[in-house]
Amino acid sequence: MIHGSSAPVESDTWQTLLARSVTDPAALLDRLQLHDSLLDPARGAAQDFPLRVPEPYIARMRRGDPDDPLLRQVLPIGEELLDQPGYVTDPLGEQHANARPGIIHKYHGRLLLVVSAGCAVNCRYCFRRHFPYDDNNLSTAEWQEALDYIRADASIREVIYSGGDPLAANDKRLAWLTREIANIPHVMRLRVHTRLPVVIPQRVTAGLIDALCGTRLPVTMVLHCNHANELDPSLEQAVHTLRSAGIMMLNQAVLLRGVNDQLEDQIALSERLADSGIMPYYLHILDHVKGARHFLVGDDQAIRLVGQMLTRLPGFLVPRLVREIAGERSKVPLVVQPVE
Ligand SMILES: *Cc1c(COP(=O)(O)O)cnc(C)c1O
Ligand code: SF4
Repeated sequence: MIHGSSAPVESDTWQTLLARSVTDPAALLDRLQLHDSLLDPARGAAQDFPLRVPEPYIARMRRGDPDDPLLRQVLPIGEELLDQPGYVTDPLGEQHANARPGIIHKYHGRLLLVVSAGCAVNCRYCFRRHFPYDDNNLSTAEWQEALDYIRADASIREVIYSGGDPLAANDKRLAWLTREIANIPHVMRLRVHTRLPVVIPQRVTAGLIDALCGTRLPVTMVLHCNHANELDPSLEQAVHTLRSAGIMMLNQAVLLRGVNDQLEDQIALSERLADSGIMPYYLHILDHVKGARHFLVGDDQAIRLVGQMLTRLPGFLVPRLVREIAGERSKVPLVVQPVE
């Protein structure tokens, strides 16, 4: 970027905001005027999986409310350290589907590329919280191998940028990769699974649009918003920019106890998404990942909740309720009937 010498104060770049993310539990509690009693558990659980949350996301949390739905997604708490039978470090068996560095090829026609190991935010319920990302930081030679893998398999119609968070990679890397993929004739679609614009809307720059939209491939972006409060005007503006560039916008959420498990939460989320130009796509049943048991919403409650959504919302604003089962050929939908 070129700055004139007399430029007014520049707003922070996404890289600065990313680097300045809050990682110290005491700083987060202080910032939100929360009670010190939350500190010891937060420090304990953060040893297992660090706290990490960028400022623009914190700005959408309510002060003084330990039950804030955005805070609950990122604040480490003591319950994470309880041993819960059946909650394991790799519930989806991805460490096995990860046959080559950087590639997860589980589903027909679609291939997931781990473009960047890092995330801008550490979500406490994440099924990848124990994933060995360090093994997935690719060298240039390994990138070539990943591209060779796609070239050699004509059944791959869609490439999905994933992570970590793929938008933690810089625009230059994304532009190079997208050009290489667009040069593979059998690839017809590009998809980006990201939470970064949600927590740092400033990530949506002209350079990013050029990197993603500069080829023949149509682009779909699947955001990850769990609560209507995440959709503030700065995110809506970023989504508007992405849509104006022709990117189709979808959302996937995770059903989380104490965050979005009430009917009104889900209706508000779908309505806010629609108003922002984003279609609800998936609502995921929590994966049984170690340390996340306290977020679980049981199947019966989940099916009833989405059944109630069916009678309150137009069909296209009701997400598909799905679960991932290791070894299955796709995500598995739960059968939902309308509930008054
Ligand atoms: C969810 C997912 C996909 C994409 O699945 P769709 O049902 O096409 O959205 C691809 N690969 C992996 C590993 C996934 O988890
Ligand atoms: S941004 Fe996505 S991959 Fe990263 S911690 Fe959150 S849920 Fe997990």
